[in-house]
Amino acid sequence: MKLTTAPSAVEPARDFPELLPHARPAVRLHPRRGTPGPRDSHIGGPVLWPAAEPWPECAGHKDVNGRAYTLPMAVVAQFTAADFPEIRFPEGTDLVQLLWCPDWHDQPPPDGWGQACRLFWRRAAEITDPPAEQPDPGEHGEDDDMIPRACVLHPERVTDYPGEEELPAGLGERFEAWLADRGLTDDLTTVPGYKLGGFLDWGTTGLPAALECGECRAPLELFLQCDTYEYYLGSWAPDSAPDRFRPLEERHLKTGDEAGDASREPVGMTVGRGSHAGLFVCSADPRHPASFFTQ
Ligand SMILES: [Zn+2]
Ligand SMILES: [Zn+2]
Repeated sequence: MKLTTAPSAVEPARDFPELLPHARPAVRLHPRRGTPGPRDSHIGGPVLWPAAEPWPECAGHKDVNGRAYTLPMAVVAQFTAADFPEIRFPEGTDLVQLLWCPDWHDQPPPDGWGQACRLFWRRAAEITDPPAEQPDPGEHGEDDDMIPRACVLHPERVTDYPGEEELPAGLGERFEAWLADRGLTDDLTTVPGYKLGGFLDWGTTGLPAALECGECRAPLELFLQCDTYEYYLGSWAPDSAPDRFRPLEERHLKTGDEAGDASREPVGMTVGRGSHAGLFVCSADPRHPASFFTQ
């Protein structure tokens, strides 16, 4: 299945060339519920895990009586180099897995994100004996909001632009004014939905004080955006123009239909308060501990 984003109302090269130097590639993942295999790229679902390696757990939780307990981490995503050559895999690796704690952690956890949210960089050919079963975090009655449903991916390469917070002073305001003069809304910057790369919309919190690696101080870059919705709620209003980000192939789907909801909220996670979040990695070495920011 191919899923396609419509063109933006703005064509930066023609309309607003000042934005061009700030463009960055991104991959809309277009997750849709399915049954991915352990060697596939996917959201949720089974990962290619070495049998000899213990399943990661998050410690540091306490029950109502103050007793400590651990939680098995939940699979968020797995990506292969074959599907996503744009990921900067550390030398000798071609598979990356993201697991996180299925229980909510305040931001940032006192001991950093290292424990609550982890990336595993691997070489797929070295894993010849994956276990048949993986822990099911859903069994533990934790908050389902943090456990993605298994989804297959339909990647689409797009060009992304930063929101006002990451543009040079004044440029975001000039772009907003240009849009307002023409009665347009911004459908160009900070592509919504699950994506690799590109830019996060920091409109809720503003930019963090320092968007840099806790280990080496190199700038952080957006690795994966998680989003409650693949496209905006407004696009379901009967008299509004279809959202650019609602795939062309799915515009016949109706709000409230099972298929329509599965297209708009395929992963079934409520990120932040129904918004989006970004997992950021170190631009110098993606094996340094990742950081997670919700909006
Ligand atoms: Zn935890
Ligand atoms: Zn670093």
